[in-house]
Amino acid sequence: MPACCIYSDVFQYETNKVTRIESMNYGTIKWLLHMIVFSYVSFALVKDKLYQRKEPLISSVHTKVKGVAEVREEILENGIKKEVRRVFDTADYTFLLQGNSFFVMTNFLETGQKQGRCPEHPDRRTHCSSDRNCKEGWMDPQSKGIQTGRCVVYEGNHKTCEVSAWCPTEATKDAPRPALLTSAENFTVLIKNNIDFPGHNYTTRNVLPDFNTSCIFHKIQDPLCPIFRLGDIFRETGDNFSEMAIQGGIMGIEIHWDCNLDSWFHHCRPKYSFRRLDDRTANDSSYMSPRSPSYNFRYAKYYKENNVEKRTLIKVFGIRFDILVFGCGGKFDVIQLILNIGSTLSYFGLATVFIDFLINTYSSKCCRSHVYPYCKCCACCAVNEYYYRKKCESIVEPKPTLKYVSFVDELHIRRVDQQLLGRSLQDVKGEKVPRPLMDFTDLSRLPLSLQDPTPIPGQPEQIQLLSAEATTRPGNSPGWCQCGNCLPSQLPERRRSLEELCCRKKPGACITTSEPFGKLILSRRALQFLLLYQEPLLVLDVESTNSRLRHCAYRCYTTWRFGSQDLADFGILPSCCRWRIRREFPKSDGQYSGFKSPY
Ligand code: GDP
Ligand code: ZN
Ligand code: ZN
Repeated sequence: MPACCIYSDVFQYETNKVTRIESMNYGTIKWLLHMIVFSYVSFALVKDKLYQRKEPLISSVHTKVKGVAEVREEILENGIKKEVRRVFDTADYTFLLQGNSFFVMTNFLETGQKQGRCPEHPDRRTHCSSDRNCKEGWMDPQSKGIQTGRCVVYEGNHKTCEVSAWCPTEATKDAPRPALLTSAENFTVLIKNNIDFPGHNYTTRNVLPDFNTSCIFHKIQDPLCPIFRLGDIFRETGDNFSEMAIQGGIMGIEIHWDCNLDSWFHHCRPKYSFRRLDDRTANDSSYMSPRSPSYNFRYAKYYKENNVEKRTLIKVFGIRFDILVFGCGGKFDVIQLILNIGSTLSYFGLATVFIDFLINTYSSKCCRSHVYPYCKCCACCAVNEYYYRKKCESIVEPKPTLKYVSFVDELHIRRVDQQLLGRSLQDVKGEKVPRPLMDFTDLSRLPLSLQDPTPIPGQPEQIQLLSAEATTRPGNSPGWCQCGNCLPSQLPERRRSLEELCCRKKPGACITTSEPFGKLILSRRALQFLLLYQEPLLVLDVESTNSRLRHCAYRCYTTWRFGSQDLADFGILPSCCRWRIRREFPKSDGQYSGFKSPY
């Protein structure tokens, strides 16, 4: 590619050509939609603070649980049932957990154990009837110890395999009901949460220096108090504390920071909300089931009694509280504002999409005929059809097989887009297309064509001659001819059917006998003027003059009969017109090449 082309390509600007429709209705719709979009965009810009740069936070959490609970247990001592009261304080019921979590014990099962041999707790796996069912040294992940190979009595006539383990083995008992530490719902927790927006270099915390240390969080009365009563948390989520205390569970405390760090609207306080995090829908009451909502783990306290190592195995049930801190802080930022304004500008295109949709929908043929057969707004359909025609230019793919045919006795034009395969073009049905509106401005450029030279005395007018010819030689024309003036094609067999076309669909007078044909197509003066109009200093010899005039006459005919240039390029001349023009402007050897598709 030459360098100049590259430069000229660079220094160009393309813009879309638009059609302005001067319509009160559409103008109103446009401004209405623009107003709605503008209001919405402005509202969203302010409401969602789209002019701010948002930064996520990083945070640290520290918790302190407080409260004392009394636990009443019944124990057997020397065969006598005794009630024992034990007091649990923070150190007893809270456990250290990793991450932003704390745990409060609400229920437990204790088993006093020492190393030895004892029967396994009976279940399907451990049952036995004789030593043969037990295997020395055998164990599996669910075993409480290593089998000794003996089958011993567990209780009554229940026999289980003996294991060497911490004895007695832990009984698979249900958690006590009601929970032993139900009063834990009165415990309080102080949550200290420090947050930092590194992007904005801003740090704050939820515990204000002047906060009332005896406050208790309440959603409405004291929403900023960082001390929470455990029972209140459950009430907020609609859960029952004493119910959940039996098996344990997981509860989420969400701290949401939505900070406006602009000095003129500065606001940065947390919002607390609560959410149960374990699967409350799993309502399987069997506590062994892995599906049941529960939270428990085991730990052991070791001690020595008479120099024998012993332990108290405790299965702890309780509630794990996960503290989830999230949110972001926003501060005014020009770039963010520009970006957001830019992204909302596209919404102004909504008016165009909507109005185009109305025009396209209410201009279709269906609008008038099928969908609304008794349509009251047919006038509106017609108006939209007019707008549609003005704004939309359809182009048919210029295929080599594309041809247009115009019959003088039909108002529309026919489009033929197929191989003729030996059939006369006259017989192919084609698809009806409306005739483009006539543009008479071209005609006004031809003042000479309409002022014919005065006929030379003694020479009769050609049109009258032709009419006479048409009526005198009807029998000589080919079978497909309806006007009596067509002649067989002289093209080779393969292309012949293309020229087998008459000026009429049904029998009648030939178009060549009409006045415009004589005055526009056959007028030598008019054609010469047209050629000179294109090339003012054109000098032609006799042979090329005729060829030029003939081709110009073809063009005049197609432009006249097909209206638009796009159709004219593919318009096929009827045989009568073709031969009439050729007779007027003949070629010396009489061999004509015929229509060639321009693409
Ligand atoms: P030529 O002068 O010996 O080449 O033969 P013609 O008198 O048949 O003219 C051929 C030229 O006229 C070619 O450029 C053709 O595309 C054009 N032409 C011939 N027939 C038709 C026709 O039916 N429709 C159109 N649009 N152009 C035609
Ligand atoms: Zn004919
Ligand atoms: Zn004809």
